[in-house]
Amino acid sequence: MAVSCLGGVVSIDKGVLYVVATPIGNRNDISLRAIEVLQSVDLIAAEDTRHSRLLLQHLGISTPLQAVHEHNEHKLVGRLIARLQAGEALALISDAGTPLISDPGFQLVRACHRHGVRVSPVPGPSAAVAALSAAGLPTDRFRFEGFPARTASARQAQFEGLKAESATIIFYESSHRIASSLADMSRVLGPGRPAVLARELTKLHETIIHATLGQLSERVKQEPDQGKGEFVVLVAGAKKDRERLNPETERTLRLLMAELPVKQAAALAARITGEKKNRLYQLALEWRDP
Ligand code: SAM
Repeated sequence: MAVSCLGGVVSIDKGVLYVVATPIGNRNDISLRAIEVLQSVDLIAAEDTRHSRLLLQHLGISTPLQAVHEHNEHKLVGRLIARLQAGEALALISDAGTPLISDPGFQLVRACHRHGVRVSPVPGPSAAVAALSAAGLPTDRFRFEGFPARTASARQAQFEGLKAESATIIFYESSHRIASSLADMSRVLGPGRPAVLARELTKLHETIIHATLGQLSERVKQEPDQGKGEFVVLVAGAKKDRERLNPETERTLRLLMAELPVKQAAALAARITGEKKNRLYQLALEWRDP
């Protein structure tokens, strides 16, 4: 079937599951192709039909909706696969952003692959990538962790396991746990670790704060407004040089820094340990001004 939207023509193939990204805030962020696909498919599988109906009404789309969420996905997969195999085209959407990214849909997509049903992405917004694109932290390598664990002990163990991660780390977090998550990150990954709090992206109260984990944790505690809404937390990766430094050399440098100015401490530590003076000086500066 071919439909046109704002002059373009899109072809919708029958028997295909389209995984369609929807806005994370500003409704105008939906792509033209997403609109075309949503109005052309036979059925839209949506995480929350009440929520998605508002978006579809805004777009003037009246395609039937079927609720597919984490509690019923396993039961509905068989029926949806049967419809796809019978030649219908289906779209999968979540409440916001890209389905399957900390959202339902994995079981359906995996079942499609198992049954030889084609799956086609209709890309668009995702909070993790939107935040990364504006955060000013390294983007060459990043690690998406989704939501941190809910309980403090599991969360702290999770962060312990990330201490040596050298890629930028991306977390999702809700307003209920942002304060405790930031406090735990600061405690485990270090209060001096550079980080970014990206809040309410593409919405009225969008804020992107660059600071250290310690500063972000304090700020959310002290300014209740900064703890409201939806968040992406991005944490700079661990410095590789720092990981490779001999622990005894680090200890020596720290002891000398407690007594001497940075330059002298680095020079003396270099003479004691045989490590390069400049490397120790750079490290000492990072410790002093995280
Ligand atoms: N599938 C979505 C995506 O692709 O981004 C994510 C769904 S997940 C259930 C919801 C989480 O994404 C929120 O708790 C928050 O961490 C993050 N998020 C979603 N929209 C956001 C926004 N506008 N600003 C900041 N974070 C957002």
